[in-house]
Amino acid sequence: MQSPIPGYLETILDSVRADTSGHVADYIPELADSDPKPLGLAMCTFGGNLYSVGDDGTEFTIQSVSKPFVYALALQRRGWNKVQQTVGTEPSGEAFNELSLDRNTKRPMNPMINAGAIAVNQLINGEDSSVEDRVEEIREFFSALAGRELSINRALCESELETADRNLSIAHMLRNYDVIQDAAHDAVRSYTLQCAIEVDVRDLAIMSATLANGGVQPITGQKILNPDVCRMALAVMASAGMYDAAGRWMTTVGIPAKSGVGGGLIGTLPGQLGIATFSPRLDIQGNSVRGVKIFQKLSKDMGLHLMAAEPQGEYALRNIHTEGQDSVIRLQGKVNFPAAESILDEMVDHDFTGQRLVLDISRVSSFNRMGRRLIKEGLRSLREEGFEVAIYDPEDILKDLQYSDGTEAETLGSLESRSLEEKD
Ligand code: GLN
Repeated sequence: MQSPIPGYLETILDSVRADTSGHVADYIPELADSDPKPLGLAMCTFGGNLYSVGDDGTEFTIQSVSKPFVYALALQRRGWNKVQQTVGTEPSGEAFNELSLDRNTKRPMNPMINAGAIAVNQLINGEDSSVEDRVEEIREFFSALAGRELSINRALCESELETADRNLSIAHMLRNYDVIQDAAHDAVRSYTLQCAIEVDVRDLAIMSATLANGGVQPITGQKILNPDVCRMALAVMASAGMYDAAGRWMTTVGIPAKSGVGGGLIGTLPGQLGIATFSPRLDIQGNSVRGVKIFQKLSKDMGLHLMAAEPQGEYALRNIHTEGQDSVIRLQGKVNFPAAESILDEMVDHDFTGQRLVLDISRVSSFNRMGRRLIKEGLRSLREEGFEVAIYDPEDILKDLQYSDGTEAETLGSLESRSLEEKD
């Protein structure tokens, strides 16, 4: 069988191909001369399946799409306290290159605008690091995220540095308020080299999927970031990743995202997907015109808008049935708060007959902390009411867990496990 997904992605590309509106970034001389035509789209699932269509092997500079990843690296290596002393988490509603600081704290508003990104870049490899060592640290980190060695387009970086007065003024402003220690030109060189790392849409989709996957690179399986770091990076992408178009983006697309003036754009759906597009013509906010359109279509078609989440946990309680003297409570799927709530709600109203209850969790795919805690408390209260409670857990999903009454989850070899499996 052939997967229908690449064909679907092709139709999405075809639907935006004819749009030639917008302009390539012209404030960077090398980018002004770049080919505006390429169009690429890639998607990587949290399970590590990569689909890509169009100009999926064309390399371009990552530019501002680098920002959430370097922010994540700073959080991972330096910790939340250090990072939040340097940069805030409020959307600024301003252009990406605005010379602005939070009025009270004198820190950049967020790590997605240039002021914040230049400040965050300084956190990598310690304040005393040389520019080259710092950038190498970032290049290596991006390479691990992408699962291949990435390189830096030094010619493009030099070209951008020729006209970098705006970023230099930002760096001087940051130095003035002690946000950075490096000389302004070193800080801007380091940040500009970070922006000049070359990627294609496939790399970006995988990098984005790593954030979606709580920091585990879905193809190599390498654990690169902690889940809470990914959550922070995604939160800031959601509120500030599209600069002064962030609100419109959240209403029409509803996916944490980050754009770059090289024409790249990523969207990250936590627990689901990483998506990346490449099309160099930009709108006035500096976001790729066809990239934005592709995301609007994908979001609508595939139901990806985060605020349109489907009901969760509705069918978490598969059934309760009687087997001889026992009442068997069968759970299924993911047990998170809404799932646990609906399970407990039905259990509270259920008239259990007999002395012994069996909780069958053989079809549960995962428990989150809250789901586990609530179910555990539910079982404790049943024990307190005098029931003998057992758990059927053939996959050892609750293996290491101890209940608050001291008992541990155990597999119930003695309890006719076969008949439990067979009966639906
Ligand atoms: N290197 C670019 C700059 O600082 C990145 C901007 C962007 O991609 N939005 O101007």
